[in-house]
Amino acid sequence: MDKNNPVVMLCGKVWHIVESGRESEMGACGRALRERRAHSRLLTIGRENVCPVCLKAIARDEAGDPATDELSNR
Ligand SMILES: [Zn+2]
Repeated sequence: MDKNNPVVMLCGKVWHIVESGRESEMGACGRALRERRAHSRLLTIGRENVCPVCLKAIARDEAGDPATDELSNR
């Protein structure tokens, strides 16, 4: 997946990040994408239109270790 400009899928009114374009059945946030209306690229539609949970999910992937920030405070 291109993390700087991943493929996004329109589900209802929200764009979700997907790993492999049209074949993907689930967004990066874990939501099932049953109502797939269109697909595009993150930079094309703008981050403000993308599911915030999806954005967090790929940011966490990029960091490599999921325990580094949020979980270290517990
Ligand atoms: Zn999402």
